[in-house]
Amino acid sequence: MKELSVKEKMIFGNLKDDSVKALLSLNDNLKIESVLMVYRDWITACVSVMVGCPLGCKFCATGKMGFKRNLEALEIVEQVLFFARYLKKLREKVTNVVFMGMGEPFLNYDNVLEAIRILNEKDSFCLGARHFSISTVGIIEGIKKLAKEKLQVNLAISLHAPDNDLRSKIMPINKKYSIEKILTAVDEYIKITRRKVMFEYIMIDNLNDSPSEAKELAKLMKKPLYFVNLISYNPTGIFHASSGDKIKKFKEVLEKAGIPVTQRYRFGKDIKAACGQLATKSGKQS
Ligand code: SF4
Repeated sequence: MKELSVKEKMIFGNLKDDSVKALLSLNDNLKIESVLMVYRDWITACVSVMVGCPLGCKFCATGKMGFKRNLEALEIVEQVLFFARYLKKLREKVTNVVFMGMGEPFLNYDNVLEAIRILNEKDSFCLGARHFSISTVGIIEGIKKLAKEKLQVNLAISLHAPDNDLRSKIMPINKKYSIEKILTAVDEYIKITRRKVMFEYIMIDNLNDSPSEAKELAKLMKKPLYFVNLISYNPTGIFHASSGDKIKKFKEVLEKAGIPVTQRYRFGKDIKAACGQLATKSGKQS
């Protein structure tokens, strides 16, 4: 195997505080971030797939960096191995890997899939396919391609708004891949794979968190094998996080409409766990 191409590692935070973040320096001096999130029964490595990102979502620190380059498969694998070594000293293990760090996984499809295959191999890291989740803004071509892979990985869609006007304002890629186009691709994916699909919805104060937006979202989500994950926003400067009360009311509207809904709390506020916050703070990417 080729020598791994991460040359310098810094770790922020403490596992006891629910998350730690690593700032990794690549051989060409570019920096990426990976986060380890601790839940009650599992420990999830959230990995990056790009240095920066070309998609420029307005609520995202990585989006502000612009795009530098795609990561190679081994650079993705190394992020997981780094946390595995870190956890070994604490007698813990990485139980899940999510592609929700810097970058859009389906714009680096081949390297992401190769990384999953390497980590999935019996004589390598041996992590079951069901323990991987790919989160996409809704790149249709990637959703269609993943549906045909013989891999039982999980798919998540970063939705974040219930209508195209609002979604296009905060996620410019929506002009190319509208909500309707994404949902058609997801329906096709479900037909082929019979797997659940998670729709992620970041709760941003006074932007997408009203009860009427919850009702609109509920209408879109009323389909078998769809479920919603509400995520507390990790502020990056422009927007603010919704209050706990607003999230509770939003969730109640969805539940009343019969939509399966989970809630992910904000991780690592103190370590700037939103993707791109450390890499941008650490100075100019060379
Ligand atoms: S949210 Fe994801 S896709 Fe959007 S700019 Fe950030 S890293 Fe890129």
